Amino acid sequence: MPAGRNSNAGLFDLECRGLSKAFDGVPAVDDISLAIEPGSFFSILGPSGCGKTTLLRLVAGFLEPDRGDILIKGRSMLGVQPNKRPVNMVFQHLALFPMMNVRENVGYGLKRKGVKRAKLNRQVEQMLDRVGLPSEIDKPIDQLSGGQKQRVALARCLIMEPDVLLLDEPLSALDLKLRDRMKVELKQLQHDFGTTFIYITHDQSEALQMSDRVAVMNQGKFEQVGAPSSLYFEPQSAFVAGFVGDSNRRSGQIHAAQNGHLLLETDDGIELEGIDAANAGLQTGEQVEIFVRPESIQLQHAPLQGIADRNHLHGRIQSLLFNGSDSHVLVRGDNSTKLYTARIPQTGGYGDLTVGNPIYLNWPAEQVKCYRRHPVPEPIG
Ligand code: ATP
Repeated sequence: MPAGRNSNAGLFDLECRGLSKAFDGVPAVDDISLAIEPGSFFSILGPSGCGKTTLLRLVAGFLEPDRGDILIKGRSMLGVQPNKRPVNMVFQHLALFPMMNVRENVGYGLKRKGVKRAKLNRQVEQMLDRVGLPSEIDKPIDQLSGGQKQRVALARCLIMEPDVLLLDEPLSALDLKLRDRMKVELKQLQHDFGTTFIYITHDQSEALQMSDRVAVMNQGKFEQVGAPSSLYFEPQSAFVAGFVGDSNRRSGQIHAAQNGHLLLETDDGIELEGIDAANAGLQTGEQVEIFVRPESIQLQHAPLQGIADRNHLHGRIQSLLFNGSDSHVLVRGDNSTKLYTARIPQTGGYGDLTVGNPIYLNWPAEQVKCYRRHPVPEPIG
């Protein structure tokens, strides 16, 4: 086996092992390990300041880690200059050369590598064909639309045939409609080229819609890594449950716990039955964070006969928010100070809902996800 290669060579396009980087003693990336299979669309999702860009810059070689290792196709990148790494990066603001036309932008990397003009032109034309821009080849950059610029930026990277393409929030400057279209195009291009994409974003819809797997990042660490559906349906921490998708979020206390099934009461006095969603061994008396998705709440005009004592609420409709394909119904419980949100499809038969009218809400126990509430640290001094 050649020096620097490991036994997993070929298995993963990118591996990070115990990667850490601090600035002025404050960790920005904190002991991250990850392994990405070839041809994946992998997203890193997290709030502003959680360390996404730092992680990407470590992989690209713009920063050196304090600890840990980065392997691309099994080869350690420690000490390897950015321009010698088999990665390429699409920046948030694309960083296209404004004084060059499309052909020159896309051919820039090949020209620097010394590829002869005839071959370079042929490769640029083929690449522009693949990204759907053949007729724009001689256009100046400032005459392109936002979506076309995006595709030029991608073509400029993909023509270099990187093992891994790093994308730093490349859609954030686009308007909503174009962003939605580009999500589909980006996913399709990744599929067609088969290149591993590592995409960072704070926008959950981008991460969930495009990715094979997503890492949810918080304060320099990965909270959970998984398929979009498992992050949404089986969040393993209160942070993931709160960050991915919408939820009715409450605090509460456990009154009884048996085999992961919990009886509890929210701080606004609602009796619930729920589950220990992270299998954390929650016990009677513990404080918990509770999450109920709006789409798991059922609405009725009258109380259901024989319904259990828990997981229901009688209240009045406070407001109706029309969203196109669905509506949000905000309900204030008779004995609660808090609002509960239910999401109903437009075809759901709730067309007779009226603001101010009474309404009954209920939801199943398996949709009441509970996580240990960590005490807020006491202020020092
Ligand atoms: P955003 O989504 O806002 O871009 P992010 O998740 O990409 O945020 P980073 O840019 O990686 O977060 O920053 C993580 C932390 O490290 C932040 O607290 C930031 O202030 C700090 N940081 C990043 N780069 C530096 C630097 N060069 N010097 C000092 N601190 C830095």
